[in-house]
Amino acid sequence: MSTFVYMTSCDGCGHCVDICPSDIMHIDPTTRRAYNIEPNFCWECYSCVKACPQNAIDARGYADFAPMGHSVRVLREEEKGTISWKIKFRDGREKNFVSPIRTTPWGSIKGPAEYEDPNTQEYSTQQLAHEPDALKVEALPTISRNQFVEGPL
Ligand code: SF4
Ligand code: SF4
Repeated sequence: MSTFVYMTSCDGCGHCVDICPSDIMHIDPTTRRAYNIEPNFCWECYSCVKACPQNAIDARGYADFAPMGHSVRVLREEEKGTISWKIKFRDGREKNFVSPIRTTPWGSIKGPAEYEDPNTQEYSTQQLAHEPDALKVEALPTISRNQFVEGPL
């Protein structure tokens, strides 16, 4: 479900532009309002939806769950720390989903360049760069060979 902006609600703050991993939220130079320049390249991560302080960004529902005449509204309530998704069906039914907003302070996440470069031994391990520290665990979970069942059950 790609996103779109209600231009009458947007104030052009640019948070969605800063956060979009696909770099498709842009500010229109004439209207000074945000818009999704290429909905086909939307990752559907909804980072922009969650970052928008004006609730100006919504998602276009896919035809399989929100066919013509249905609507999907997203409501961000920072004081409650929640994002609510309201889906209204054409026959009047409504479905509501509430999920928590990630509360990591803006700009507090370490950028990739701020980590130390991996040393040559680390290149030959199965772990990805900065694991397990970046996952805030002491060690990654492992599974031993005898936990696998061989042959038909
Ligand atoms: Fe960008 Fe994600 Fe918003 Fe799509 S949902 S426009 S990829 S931030
Ligand atoms: Fe507009 Fe919301 Fe994007 Fe700010 S975050 S530019 S208000 S759509």
